[in-house]
Amino acid sequence: MTEQSAADRPLRIAIVGAGPAGIYAADALMKSDAEVSIDLFERMPAPFGLIRYGVAPDHPRIKGIITALHKVLDKPQVRLLGNIDYGTDITLDDLRTFYDAVIFSTGANADRALGIPGIGLDGSYGAADFVSWYDGHPDVPRTWPLDAEKVAVLGVGNVALDVARVLAKTGDELLPTEIPPNVYAGLKANKALEVHVFGRRGPAQAKFTPLELRELDHSPTIEVIVDPEDIDYDEGSEAARRHSKQVDMIANTLEQWAIRDVGNRPHKLFLHFFESPAEILGEDGRVVGLRTERTQLDGTGNVKGTGNVKGTGTFKEWDVQAVYRAVGYLSQNLTNLPFDDQAGTVPNEAGRVIGDENADGADRYVPATYVTGWIKRGPVGLIGHTKGDANETVACLLDDSANFTPAERPELDAVTEFLESKGIPFTTWQGWYRLDAHERSLGEPEGRERVKVVEREDMLRASEPHKV
Ligand SMILES: Cc1cc2nc3c(=O)[nH]c(=O)nc-3n(C[C@H](O)[C@H](O)[C@H](O)COP(=O)(O)OP(=O)(O)OC[C@H]3O[C@@H](n4cnc5c(N)ncnc54)[C@H](O)[C@@H]3O)c2cc1C
Repeated sequence: MTEQSAADRPLRIAIVGAGPAGIYAADALMKSDAEVSIDLFERMPAPFGLIRYGVAPDHPRIKGIITALHKVLDKPQVRLLGNIDYGTDITLDDLRTFYDAVIFSTGANADRALGIPGIGLDGSYGAADFVSWYDGHPDVPRTWPLDAEKVAVLGVGNVALDVARVLAKTGDELLPTEIPPNVYAGLKANKALEVHVFGRRGPAQAKFTPLELRELDHSPTIEVIVDPEDIDYDEGSEAARRHSKQVDMIANTLEQWAIRDVGNRPHKLFLHFFESPAEILGEDGRVVGLRTERTQLDGTGNVKGTGNVKGTGTFKEWDVQAVYRAVGYLSQNLTNLPFDDQAGTVPNEAGRVIGDENADGADRYVPATYVTGWIKRGPVGLIGHTKGDANETVACLLDDSANFTPAERPELDAVTEFLESKGIPFTTWQGWYRLDAHERSLGEPEGRERVKVVEREDMLRASEPHKV
């Protein structure tokens, strides 16, 4: 095999992870002056990452971002190679054989741990697992136990509110969305009448967005309840309200809810502040309650990070039969790449993967290896934020490109022949169009935009692997 200089042909780039970050990276590469040829690897048979398997089904406008991302994947310079797991089906050495550079955009799909007793009890769940279930992820069980009448959700970010809202809504409210039949059946049998959301800190420190908060109140079946005792600010919190419109909007909404009369919608959703989860209580291995410690503001005024409150030594027990932890997502370690367990990211500077942090200049970095999205900066921020990430990472890649060691086998067929020789049924972009059409046709008789296909085998059958 003759080595071609990268200057004689388009730059061959592999992007691993076809969530928004990976797709925006492809877009940034194609919008640059460089001539590029991109393969986007994805472990799922379908692309779009957490837009498909994280964003709540009753957020169709956000799910609609997929339509904008279509324009990127429709371009001839990019191919989708789905149903391929980096680390199992393809290694870093393989990628180096076929590509001049690699960008990892593998996101985050696990729950961050919460170190309190009782986490292992039946009825104690991670939000990521529940989200994967209601969003029809093929790799989680098909049924979800929804037999608790009173449920706790720990955390006050957007994911916590998604989980609380889905638990508090009726199955019929969610039926017009894309939820698959097993999820509708599960939600229809849901016994939850009370959902209690717990934040360790106060209204000015809540991490959800004003839009997500106000949406809770739009359901005809959910009564949102805030205890006036939980409305408290220190000087720093007041300063945060003055400086951030978003913090102020959240505080205003919560204040209004705290003083209004409680209505009679059947499902109650309580938003509790200054209650720090101390222990999940169990009996015979099952959740029977939650113990929280009352906290108070410590006056530091720190609205970001974890500080700002201290325990008061006053504990309270809540009668709940299920507890959902929504305290953050966590990225997975990637084979043959460095990983910062604490931050849950691949160590990097502006997207360049750091191989030796004591070295200077180019020696500091793993050659031609980059990260973007949640694996780059941790699992925070909205879909839109991954665009800026991608632009920064791609700018670094293009700056470095003159020094890349050219791939040994840059031809388009080389990698697909390799995958075929390993018997991997990979899906393509055209395959997504087939799956998309199939899901839409499933929804049509019921007047729904789509009904999601859950089983991996069924997704593959509809996508028709290998076929372009
Ligand atoms: C529950 C939840 C709800 C959210 N709701 C909203 C919302 O309403 N609005 C909003 O703007 N943002 C929302 N977000 C945030 C948004 O989803 C993220 O900002 C965004 O998805 C991060 O993009 P990413 O591409 O870095 O990661 P991801 O979206 O996680 O994409 C990573 C991709 O990499 C693939 N991958 C992982 N490992 C491998 C591997 N080894 N080999 C091959 N492929 C691999 C994954 O399958 C996935 O497709 C939500 C997040 C969560 C968790």
